[in-house]
Amino acid sequence: MDCLFCSIIEGKIPSNKIYEDDSVFAFYDIDPQAPVHFLVIPKEHIASPAAITPENSAVVAHVFEVIARLSQELGLENGYRVVTNCGKDGGQSVGHLHFHVLGKRSLAWPPG
Ligand code: AMP
Ligand code: ZN
Repeated sequence: MDCLFCSIIEGKIPSNKIYEDDSVFAFYDIDPQAPVHFLVIPKEHIASPAAITPENSAVVAHVFEVIARLSQELGLENGYRVVTNCGKDGGQSVGHLHFHVLGKRSLAWPPG
């Protein structure tokens, strides 16, 4: 299957990786729309939010756990937006489920 984000997960296309575990991958967006803009994606190829089912939805909860941790580590403790676009009319341009995290670092970052 020809999927940009599957290729990024497999390392066939380079990315600015932030985090990876067994089921989730996170990397900076190549065209940032906020001072801090990264994407969190399931490693399993799920085409869009419309393709979330009872069988594959557990990874979505894990995505949000990872977002909570990474946003803290990257200095977004004052808040951030999480966005997922669905389908052509929803502005989805890459056919692999992804969650945008957009925010700016707090003045207290980095800690210490
Ligand atoms: P969407 O429009 O919701 O499908 O978002 C797709 C996002 O993927 C856009 O914000 C793009 O800037 C981003 N993107 C596309 N190609 C790459 C890439 N090679 N590395 C990182 N981000 C990318
Ligand atoms: Zn994919």
